[in-house]
Amino acid sequence: MKNAGISGEGERRVRVNEDLLRLSGTYLFVELDERIAAFRAAHPNARLIDLGQGDVSRGLPAAIMHELRAAVEDMSHPATFRGYGPAVGYTFLRELIAVHDYCARGIPIDADEIFVSDGAKGDTAQFQELFDRDATVAVIDPAYPVYVESNIMSGRVGELGANGRYDKLEYLVCTPENGFRPMLPDRRVDLIYLCSPNNPTGAVMSRAALAEWVEYARAYHSVILFDAAYEAYVRDAAAPRSIYEVSGAREVAVEFRSFSKTAGFTGMRCGFTVIPREIVCGSKKGTTTVSVNALWRRRQSVKFGGTPYVVQRAAAATYSKEGQEQVRALVDSYLENCRLMRAALEDAGFAVYGGRDAPYVWLKVPPGLDSWGFFDRALEYAHLVVTPGVGFGPGGEGYVRISGFRSREDTQEAADRIRRHLIV
Ligand code: PLP
Repeated sequence: MKNAGISGEGERRVRVNEDLLRLSGTYLFVELDERIAAFRAAHPNARLIDLGQGDVSRGLPAAIMHELRAAVEDMSHPATFRGYGPAVGYTFLRELIAVHDYCARGIPIDADEIFVSDGAKGDTAQFQELFDRDATVAVIDPAYPVYVESNIMSGRVGELGANGRYDKLEYLVCTPENGFRPMLPDRRVDLIYLCSPNNPTGAVMSRAALAEWVEYARAYHSVILFDAAYEAYVRDAAAPRSIYEVSGAREVAVEFRSFSKTAGFTGMRCGFTVIPREIVCGSKKGTTTVSVNALWRRRQSVKFGGTPYVVQRAAAATYSKEGQEQVRALVDSYLENCRLMRAALEDAGFAVYGGRDAPYVWLKVPPGLDSWGFFDRALEYAHLVVTPGVGFGPGGEGYVRISGFRSREDTQEAADRIRRHLIV
């Protein structure tokens, strides 16, 4: 090899990004799998029901499958074949979203403010890349872990304390005392992650609560990152389904949405992010203002290859008359599972939250147990898998999450086991 033996350099390895080494997030699921595997080994005949998973279980509605098949067929003919598509999504889908999800509900959003993606996970994880490494961050707690973990990877969170909290993050702790509603912090923050209907607590923020946040963000020039992945589950007519139902939100809020839990797209991968043109941030030069819409557009053009054409056609079918009816029925059926779960848990004496306008029931564990203690008890006594609340952040300790996404048969069987084996 030419230049072999450059002095001392043979020992050197490429260094990794140390911020990634700070991730501890997979720990929960590794631990979960290990405990389940140990249980299965000890009880090979037990039939476990997994109420922990956040994945949907029913097939895609017929109207969506019909369109998906037609789009697949299009791909085989030169005249209708589609190759590389726009990174921001096809206009046909962006226009349908603007019309049905926003304009029809009195919210003026146009197609150029919508960015179609391969799901809300990537968008909620990557959006923070647009902002300064020193941006201060507030995060609802407990929360979908991606908000904190993506900021860990960007070196924005500081040190992990003994209390399970990163010292640079502002935690908006949600408890029964505040109705699981994130309260305004007493300092200024740049970025605010909110999620309603919430994963994992199932809580929905009222219009008044959202209006307080919008007012705060306007006063301090903060940006709200509003995750509305579960908006289709809102059945309370008074509750907002979009942050743009609050006046003034266009200047300060980005909204993330997904077809995953609405239409069964967890494996199809399609979501979208709404970035109104009014959102403007600063730069280090001080005098320059930057359009967040333009910045994300540029970023996507470099890093995102677009959502597959066939998937976008299938997503478009959710807005047809049949599609709307079928999607609504799908969501209703998961909500009915939550109702069955809630009823069984209440009969068994538990304090139960959520599950009415969200596909998750949030359960306070009995005194003397922590999240993992109750996980073990549910596994041992009822052969049920639940998700320990502490996996969603320190604010989740003392709770577990139960999802409404199982089949009706499994849900009924689980409800029965709860009433028989998990009495408080
Ligand atoms: N946001 C929240 C709050 C979620 O719970 C999830 C998935 O569980 C997502 C976003 C990601 O959804 P998607 O499947 O669109 O990536």
